[in-house]
Amino acid sequence: MDAKHIRNFSIIAHIDHGKSTLADRLIEYTGTLTEREMEAQVLDNMDLERERGITIKAQTVRLHYKAKDGEIYELNLIDTPGHVDFNYEVSRSLAACEGALLVVDATQGVEAQTLANVYLALEHDLEIIPVINKIDLPSAEPEMVKQEIEDIIGLDTSDAVLASAKTGIGIEDILEQIVQKIPAPPADNDKPLKALIFDSYFDAYKGVIAHIRVVDGMIKPGMRLKMMATGKEFEVTDIGCFRPAPVNINMLESGEVGFVAGSLKNVRDVRVGDTITAANNPADEALPGYRGVTPMVYCGLYPVDSSDYENLKDALEKLQLNDAALTFEPETSIALGFGFRCGFLGLLHMDVIQERLEREYKLKLITTAPSVIYHVYKTNKEMVKIDNPASMPPPTEIEHIEEPYVKATVIVPNDYVGPVMEISQDKRGVFKTMDYLDVNRVMVVYHIPLSEIIYDYFDKLKSATRGYASLDYELTDYQPSKLVKLDILLNGEPVDALSTIVHVDRAASRGRQLAEKLKNIIPRQMFEIPIQAAVGNKIIARENVRAMRKDVLAKCYGGDITRKRKLLEKQKEGKKRMKAVGSVEVPQEAFMAILKID
Ligand code: GDP
Ligand code: MG
Repeated sequence: MDAKHIRNFSIIAHIDHGKSTLADRLIEYTGTLTEREMEAQVLDNMDLERERGITIKAQTVRLHYKAKDGEIYELNLIDTPGHVDFNYEVSRSLAACEGALLVVDATQGVEAQTLANVYLALEHDLEIIPVINKIDLPSAEPEMVKQEIEDIIGLDTSDAVLASAKTGIGIEDILEQIVQKIPAPPADNDKPLKALIFDSYFDAYKGVIAHIRVVDGMIKPGMRLKMMATGKEFEVTDIGCFRPAPVNINMLESGEVGFVAGSLKNVRDVRVGDTITAANNPADEALPGYRGVTPMVYCGLYPVDSSDYENLKDALEKLQLNDAALTFEPETSIALGFGFRCGFLGLLHMDVIQERLEREYKLKLITTAPSVIYHVYKTNKEMVKIDNPASMPPPTEIEHIEEPYVKATVIVPNDYVGPVMEISQDKRGVFKTMDYLDVNRVMVVYHIPLSEIIYDYFDKLKSATRGYASLDYELTDYQPSKLVKLDILLNGEPVDALSTIVHVDRAASRGRQLAEKLKNIIPRQMFEIPIQAAVGNKIIARENVRAMRKDVLAKCYGGDITRKRKLLEKQKEGKKRMKAVGSVEVPQEAFMAILKID
């Protein structure tokens, strides 16, 4: 298609403001899917996305729209995730677009992620079209939300579309604005090929499939292409676009978005952010790639069944293919055996990867408590980066420790400022600024240790503000903190996978709470199990898991058969995720217990 008739755009929004539903309406309105083929949030095709109602992977879909000017336009829509952990995905998608629909819920207004996403869109110089969504709801306040967008973001909202992605109000207006306001992609079919890989995945039949935005030149089947960063060459077998299922087509021209597959079997040959060019007529220079992402949160992943080690490695490699933010390297634990130290952008990212490994790759895993990266300055003047509490040098070798701090931006109704401040202070946060967004909402900024955020900061904020608080954070710097390693001993043996790093003032209470928690998690066994919490050589708490009474079931005999069955079921359920640590059977929950205490 002539590039003049192409529009490439994303939808950006705070979570739950209606991106995916709006995408549904656009797909439906343009007849891309028939009503019968349509299902809610059709682009969220991962089971996990459907169940949680969130978008994890960005998706693309090509729509054909006959505009009021009588011309047919090709609209390439890239749906993006809205959660803070997935900013990286958003950024990648935006690099393939010229414009973005900014969706704001008319009942909620501008939230922390609305701002974060707008900043990303502005960084990419995108034309932004404001859409005030959910105006069908009685509590909608579109005028106030428009004013907020003007005041906080500084966008002109005189043409903002008032829409309901649920009932279909405003959809035509949105499509018209896309055509009229978003610039056509700059394009030149005659230049040497340059295409940006913005995503990729592994297909069992076709091998690696790369999602691309063609910037210059064009691609046809049979062409020989080359990856500019890795140097890998391949022959094109399939090219196509998503409607939203993959459909083969016979060329991709400059300005277009689609996919390319070929003789690419190794996931490592296809790097997201790399530029594809023609092998016989290569471009001089690659497109600017993506800024690298560094994981902020690390945890250990271990197969419950140690013979699954290779399968786990294989699965991590495949997931890493379209998730550059995921890192992993082999690690061994005395308690858990062979596994991987994995890096994530945040806790949700960690959760999602773990769940995908279990569902899509049928792996049973033990996950250890998440940790940030500490900078440990040793007495010998060396600095080591520690992402695993178990590898912390002994206290005598440590001069001081620094931990990562973030700038946390919280937006709440002003009635809840008190609780937000209380929680932030309790999490060692340092107050920075407070600004009124409108008459009843404020934006509070704290400088706070990342480790506190990844524990339960957001959960606490949510429950203290009846779900109203929204949070965004970005890494700012490292600050010295008085930190110590808290060890747990089971049956007198330290369990490396249960060690955590805590602030010295919290060590005693954390130790006590953790020991108590573990006492309730670790099932009774044939012998008594002492649980001790220690800092260095000093035991700071102790609990006992009493030995099992041999007649747990005896009581049920002759009695209620369903109760007995339930008891056995429960035991079996618990067994699934047990790991023998020395002589003690430890359930998965134990390794995460630290997250569940105050
Ligand atoms: P996303 O997280 O931004 O992708 O949001 P979703 O599209 O998943 O929508 C979040 C929730 O809001 C879902 O329950 C939708 O059904 C609902 N929703 C989305 N748009 C509208 C709307 O215009 N009106 C109403 N009443 N509900 C909407
Ligand atoms: Mg969504």
